[in-house]
Amino acid sequence: MVYDLIIIGAGPAGITAAVYAARKRMNFIVITNDIGGQTGWSGEIENYTGYQFITGPDLVNKFEEHMRQYNVIVKENEQAEEVKRAGDNIKVKTSKGEYEAKSLIIASGKVSRQLGVPGEKEFKNKGLTYCATCDGPLFSGKNVAVIGGGNSALDAALQLVKIAKHVYVINITSSLGGDAVMREKVEANDKATVLNDSQVTAIYGDKFVNGIGIKRAGKEEKIAAEGVFVEIGLLPNSSFAGEVERNERGEIKINVKNETNIPGVFAAGDVTDVPDKQIVIAAGEGSKAALQAFKYLNKIR
Ligand SMILES: Cc1cc2nc3c(=O)[nH]c(=O)nc-3n(C[C@H](O)[C@H](O)[C@H](O)COP(=O)(O)OP(=O)(O)OC[C@H]3O[C@@H](n4cnc5c(N)ncnc54)[C@H](O)[C@@H]3O)c2cc1C
Repeated sequence: MVYDLIIIGAGPAGITAAVYAARKRMNFIVITNDIGGQTGWSGEIENYTGYQFITGPDLVNKFEEHMRQYNVIVKENEQAEEVKRAGDNIKVKTSKGEYEAKSLIIASGKVSRQLGVPGEKEFKNKGLTYCATCDGPLFSGKNVAVIGGGNSALDAALQLVKIAKHVYVINITSSLGGDAVMREKVEANDKATVLNDSQVTAIYGDKFVNGIGIKRAGKEEKIAAEGVFVEIGLLPNSSFAGEVERNERGEIKINVKNETNIPGVFAAGDVTDVPDKQIVIAAGEGSKAALQAFKYLNKIR
């Protein structure tokens, strides 16, 4: 079977592309590791138009409900591993099979950056995690550390002050980044301590994490913590994209029509070189990509 379109990813970009493709009656599938992407990791969302406040998981439910209304075929828990041309068509090899389509939208978003220090791999999911929304409740009443100083770290810290005994924010630069509103909330919270100019050197533990090593003002220190939340930024999920052109950060290069360098291959959302990474932007880009894929299909028919 050759589909009209394959969409890789079901975050805001992929789901919105799916809603638009369904409404254009395109014959398509969505291939995705999960439903919701990064939005599901977000605690409080206050900037998605139409919702003055909504949690990440609730917004994902709304997105999914909207997409499922159109009986979209979603290949969930399936990872795209390779994208290649097959004549005028595109083939996508996945962890479970191979699919062919006349067009493709890559909406695979971003994944957490690793610290790269001793103990990180060993204690992953044994007290060290990359998702405060998912794992925060496991650390009720405990001392935890959030590593990072941008919006993701601030979001994690604000979620954790409600659950944990105390939250240390370990920031490598001399002051916190991110949005002023979030920064002020963290700095004003008695349950949070911000340690600037601090570089993480190791994660310590026995069976589970019991602390982190940091270097501050030339001195090594150990901070006791039973939970470590790594929030140091994200990398684009584009390694499977084959000949699709990327920039030096690994983001897929697109033009204003969401076209890549390969005819019929479009990209949308955080995986692209569009400068701002937000839910509303990813959703908008997903709709643009689907409308362009529809025009492309009409042109080649
Ligand atoms: C903690 C946190 C808080 C945030 N808070 C806000 C906020 O308050 N407001 C806001 O506007 N934005 C916020 N953001 C940013 C926002 O979540 C992202 O900009 C948005 O989710 C990007 O959407 P996307 O669809 O492009 O990618 P993602 O959300 O990253 O979705 C990518 C999708 O692709 C799938 N995927 C990845 N690789 C593959 C593969 N190889 N094969 C198959 N599927 C794959 C994933 O499973 C996922 O479904 C936050 C981000 C984080 C991390």
